[in-house]
Amino acid sequence: MQVQINESTLELAQGDITREDVDAIVNAANRSLLGGGGVDGAIHRAAGPELLAECRTLNGCETGGAKITRGYKLKARHVIHAVGPVYHDGKRDEPALLANAYRTCLELASQHACASIAFPAISTGVYGYPMEDAARIAFRVIVEYLEQHSEIKLVRYVLYDARAFAVHERVLEQVLSE
Ligand code: ADP
Repeated sequence: MQVQINESTLELAQGDITREDVDAIVNAANRSLLGGGGVDGAIHRAAGPELLAECRTLNGCETGGAKITRGYKLKARHVIHAVGPVYHDGKRDEPALLANAYRTCLELASQHACASIAFPAISTGVYGYPMEDAARIAFRVIVEYLEQHSEIKLVRYVLYDARAFAVHERVLEQVLSE
């Protein structure tokens, strides 16, 4: 699924984000920025040990924020390490923190002249964020940003499996019709 937003394209894809040939891929990291499981582990394995070495210099990252590094062995020139919230009950600022993580990634991409960026579904794995709610937040932020910033030409949102892809397709259609 692909939609045009002003001068930019927002695309849903299914697959492994570590293989994406874009200027920046986003990592669903934890506050230590020192690696973890899920997409974080996959990105560190694919990028090689130099990525962890650079991450050690960053002194972690607060929840709702993001920090950028080089991509090392990845095709992507940069990795943007975003820290989404752990989901508790939705009443502990999770929606605002998740929205802030996505927005910070897009701002970092703009600042580092990244014309293309790939996102995973931040917080929807081990961090337990209900997928539909997380997708709605992500797409609202991305669509609003692309409406205001033409320097990012492509946002590819990469879902790991068919079920996640189907949920995101449905939610994106809803968000576009709001
Ligand atoms: P978090 O701790 O933020 O929840 P996870 O890595 O546990 O992060 O999961 C985030 C999402 O990334 C999940 O929906 C998971 O299915 C997905 N995911 C895991 N590995 C990959 C990958 N290689 N490429 C794209 N998405 C992935």
